[in-house]
Order: sequence, then structure tokens, then C-alpha cells
Amino acid sequence: MSDPKTLAVAVIGGGPAGLMAAETLAAAGLSVAVYERMPSLGRRFLMAGRGGLNLTHSESLAAFKTRYGAATAALDPLIEAFTPEDLQAWATALGQETFVGSSGRIFPRSLKASPLLRAWIGRLGEAGVQFHTRHDWTGWAPDGGLTFATPDGEVVAHPSATVLAVGGASWPRLGANGAWAKTLAAEGVPLAAFAPANVGAKAAWSADFAVRFAGAPLKAVALTIGETTLRGEALVTAYGLEGGGIYALTPAIRSALAGPEPARLHIDLRPDMRRGDLASRLIGGRSGDSLSNRLRKMLKLSPVEIALLREAFGADLPRSPVGLAEAIKAVPVRLTGLMGLERAISSAGGLKFEGLDARLMLQARPGVFAAGEMLDWEAPTGGYLLQASFATGVAAARGAINWLAERP
Ligand SMILES: Cc1cc2nc3c(=O)[nH]c(=O)nc-3n(C[C@H](O)[C@H](O)[C@H](O)COP(=O)(O)OP(=O)(O)OC[C@H]3O[C@@H](n4cnc5c(N)ncnc54)[C@H](O)[C@@H]3O)c2cc1C
Repeated sequence: MSDPKTLAVAVIGGGPAGLMAAETLAAAGLSVAVYERMPSLGRRFLMAGRGGLNLTHSESLAAFKTRYGAATAALDPLIEAFTPEDLQAWATALGQETFVGSSGRIFPRSLKASPLLRAWIGRLGEAGVQFHTRHDWTGWAPDGGLTFATPDGEVVAHPSATVLAVGGASWPRLGANGAWAKTLAAEGVPLAAFAPANVGAKAAWSADFAVRFAGAPLKAVALTIGETTLRGEALVTAYGLEGGGIYALTPAIRSALAGPEPARLHIDLRPDMRRGDLASRLIGGRSGDSLSNRLRKMLKLSPVEIALLREAFGADLPRSPVGLAEAIKAVPVRLTGLMGLERAISSAGGLKFEGLDARLMLQARPGVFAAGEMLDWEAPTGGYLLQASFATGVAAARGAINWLAERP
């Protein structure tokens, strides 16, 4: 345990936001200790690396900064102060050069998180950062000390400042379980309820469709719900739909589900073709061909696309070329819910920005700063989650550095 008399800053949470805060604090010459409830650091970061670690995105900074919904204004200056370029330079300095994938997403060349995390923890150790794993932060003692539940009983630390970076509430088995929300609520800190983000949506498929087509991709489709339309990919699953296009629509799906009408997603299977062109092609088909054969031959619809039309329209599937073209441009899928936090890539909700000042210090607890996914923002996949986690880690650390410098 670090000497409580000399510990300048305690960082709670050893994920991307907390480790970035620790690095920034140590670089300013402060003594730093990271407290992590799990037996090892960065478990969610490692999980993020499983499918290819998408660190950030190459689109223009102006476009990038609009990806955070209602939190765009709050995050704007923080991302401006730690940009996607800064993040790439940081990864390169850790021996992990980056490249831009075909979709504009940025990855380390190894695609993995483990070499990056290993090099990073090594560099933090060299900078004097101390690590205390299996330390579950439980709140504050009456004298203001931080209390931790550990396998050896309760431990109390008395840092001069604290950075909370305890994550959101998705994939709780990787460490971030959202239990901190109760502690902060008791302090009067404003919180928004957690909700799954970047998660699959449930659809009431027939048993036959679910069994036959689970795992089949709907490629290059356009997805519309409410006022929101986007191009992307979806994957049919036994429970409904998932994939990048669906994840990006989570906020719109959430609000449609909360509305009075049934939530209906419309899938345009051929977004690059106009209705008229689709109908003309169908007119050209051989009259003896079955409907499925016409759709396959004339429009190259895949088996899952044809089955989805039948699933959605049943006996009402139009037969006329014009009616079929209309159906192909807007296949209705009734959504019945979102999957839960357990398997959501991220969570919405958390500590509201109104409870923080511009340097990310809690109004209710001077000297305590907050960073990462525990803050109330959400973003689609594409590297936006990690970029904001890193940027807020830097910002909270700089806030703590300034605050400490102002004190006698
Ligand atoms: C499957 C998956 C794939 C993903 N892929 C990507 C991707 O490719 N690109 C991208 O941008 N994002 C991705 N993400 C999201 C990204 O991993 C998160 O946005 C990011 O890890 C958030 O960083 P954080 O430091 O705020 O929180 P976390 O990484 O969750 O870290 C918080 C840490 O705090 C610890 N903690 C919590 N409570 C306490 C406590 N009371 N005491 C002590 N410690 C505590 C936790 O154990 C955890 O280690 C993915 C997520 C998942 C689940």
C-alpha cells in the first residue's frame, strides 16, 4: 500500500480512462496509485481487442466530435485537447503503429489490445505508478479517506485528489458493474439510469426463420427507425438483429421502444436502387419462374433477404413488380426490445455532466474528478468509445493537476 502521507492522486479503475489519467498525472511528477477491483487491469480493453481493437476513427475532427449525441458539447473541448491524432501518436510510442481500415476506422497493426496494454503497464510502472488490484472502492470514510474492500479486509487511502474511472455498467463480469452509482447517489451526485448501448435488438422471428437464418448477414442495407436512417450491416440472430448498423441505431431504437406505437425498423435491402429500377428489372423476369427465383435472378437477393421478405409480409407479400419493389425498399421488422447490459458493448447513462465542472471535478466532492464511460455519454462503435474514454482520462488528470497546483 502506498504511503498515505505522500500519495498525491488515487485513480480508481484500471481501464483505458484510469490508466490514461494515471499516465498524465505521473508525467506531471505526481505520485499516483491505481486501484482496481479485478485481479488484473484493463479486462474490458482486452475484450475490445478480441474482434480487432478499433482505437479511434480517421474522419475529420469536426465530424468526429458530433458522434456523442446529447453529450457532444460537453465532450467537444476534451476531444479537441486529446485528438484521434494524439491517440495514434500515443499508440505508436508504445510500439503499436496504427493503420486506417477500409471503413475509416483506426486499429493497431497487431489488431490486438494485449501488446499495447502490456507495453503501457510497463511504461506506467517505470514512471512510478503503483497498482493495487483486488481493491474494490466502496466509498468514503468519515474522515474523507477512500475505502476499499480487499481480500485482506478494508483498506483506507488518503490521497490529495482522486480520479474516478470506474467504467459504465455493460459486461459487468469484466469489472465495471456500475455499483459505484449508489455511492455517488448518496453524495447527491446527479446520475442518469444506465441503459444498454451498442447492443442487439430483439425481433419476434418465427421459429423456422430464426433456426435457418441465425448468423446470416444483411449486407449494405439501409436501416430506418423513426427519423433516423443509416447505411450499414446487420446480422440475423436467433433473438433478432445485431451488428454495426443496429448498434449505431441503439438510441433511436430505445426511444421508439419507449413510445406509444410498436417500434418498427424498416430495412431497405437495395438502398442503391430506386423503386422504379427494381420494378423494371422484375418485369423482365420469366413468367414461369417462382417468386423466389425472380428475386434471386433479377435482383440477386440472397436467401436470407428473400426469407426476410416472406417473414415480414407473410401472405401479404405483393406479387406485382411495383408492389415487390416497394416491399424490398422497406421491409418492416417489429422490434420488441434491446438485449441487456450483460452483453452490450457499452452503456448509456451514468454521471451527468451537470454534476461536474469544466475540469471534470465533482461539484459535490471537491478534489474528486471523473472520467471514461462512467460519464453520461454514448457513441456508436467506430473507435468513438475508446477515444472519449482516453480523452476524458487526460482531461480529468489535467483537472486534478491544476486543482492541486492552486492549493497551498
Ligand atoms: C466486447 C467489447 C468490444 C469493444 N470494442 C471496442 C472497440 O473496438 N473500440 C472502442 O472504442 N470501444 C470498444 N469497446 C468499449 C470500450 O472497451 C470501453 O468504452 C472502454 O473500455 C471504457 O473505458 P473505461 O476506462 O471508462 O471503463 P472500463 O474499461 O470499463 O474500466 C473501468 C475499470 O474500473 C474498474 N472498477 C469498476 N468499479 C470499481 C470499483 N468500485 N473499485 C475499483 N475498480 C473498479 C473495473 O473493474 C474496470 O477495470 C468494446 C467493449 C466491449 C465490451
